[in-house]
Amino acid sequence: MCDSVSHFTFIPPLHAIFPSLRDMLTVEARAMDETLFEHPGRWWHALDDGRVQCDLCPRFCRLKEGQRGFCFVRQCQGGAMILTTYGRSSGFCIDPIEKKPLNHFLPGSAVLSFGTAGCNLGCRFCQNWDISKAREIDKLASLASPEAIAAAAADHGCRSVAFTYNDPVIFAEYALDTAAACRARGIRSVAVTAGYIGETARAEFYAGMDAANVDLKGFTEGFYKNLCFAQLAPILETLEYLKKETSVWFEITTLLIPGQNDSDDELHKLAEWVAEHLGPDVPLHFTAFHPDFKMLETPHTPPATLTRARAIALAKGLHFVYTGNVHDRDGGSTWCPGCGGLLIERDWYELGIYNIKDGRCAKCGHAIAGHFENTRQDWGARRVPVRIV
Ligand code: SF4
Repeated sequence: MCDSVSHFTFIPPLHAIFPSLRDMLTVEARAMDETLFEHPGRWWHALDDGRVQCDLCPRFCRLKEGQRGFCFVRQCQGGAMILTTYGRSSGFCIDPIEKKPLNHFLPGSAVLSFGTAGCNLGCRFCQNWDISKAREIDKLASLASPEAIAAAAADHGCRSVAFTYNDPVIFAEYALDTAAACRARGIRSVAVTAGYIGETARAEFYAGMDAANVDLKGFTEGFYKNLCFAQLAPILETLEYLKKETSVWFEITTLLIPGQNDSDDELHKLAEWVAEHLGPDVPLHFTAFHPDFKMLETPHTPPATLTRARAIALAKGLHFVYTGNVHDRDGGSTWCPGCGGLLIERDWYELGIYNIKDGRCAKCGHAIAGHFENTRQDWGARRVPVRIV
């Protein structure tokens, strides 16, 4: 639990913080902006001392009038909690679903992706820090209602919408309204998240999602404390909750950072925990770090580290372990746990051979965990920006 951070105490109007954003808006958008941006927040309660406590994530920020929480986007106004980024996004792109990464959820399909600003973790290695740190929002902001996003996804042939780039937990009201609009059109919703969410919000949030990729950033409390300003235990609770209490399809990603979370010992423990608590069929992705944000002196992850991590996790009995952010056909492809045959061939985000029929290996009939169709989609590796009006 944290009291609000002192440097967020004075909160000027949004357009005073981001004057260029105001200039960018159309007349219609300006009329919309007050209602879209500032939205009643949920998952909070009033305290006896006049502050409000946010119950959305395990930071449980306690805020005085005008203060913002650690995530920057939730604020105490008029004795209540508001979300200040409802309807405002960092921009929209159509990506391959494999980029989330999800390798067992409608392979080869296009996903309309967007994020907002801010984050409830403080990762020193953040690979999206220009979005998660709100100072750049004036360069990135665009406006879109949930219905407009769902309509755009349908118009562009996207099978799903992904809340990504920054953590959707902090804009949960916007994500859930968008997910509901998508569901009404038969479009799925995907959360790309650190899984750092409070117990009361967790059920409601995941009830709106069809799939998730959850970052398991390391496997020690020290890693989370020192490099993420967060805790490991709530994330493990989220993963167990997803497995035991929901039908949400989820995969796990661990970004391997040289010297920080890539020791044999830590990888053994991580893989053992996944096998024991989640079972062998939850896909695990080991991805490569590049120097970024506060860790510019840390080297890139060598491909051999990813291969070593994958071998350790496979030896623990996990069925689907992937390497990511590298060209590695063996590590990027899906192999049948029954006969060892190639199910889905991948080179980064490009798909080749596809041997799944009726959710089973086309060769031996072994059931493959995930959401598969009899033919794969062919969006490929393209990344296409989309403007939503
Ligand atoms: S969601 Fe934001 S305001 Fe709420 S507890 Fe987490 S960091 Fe604090």
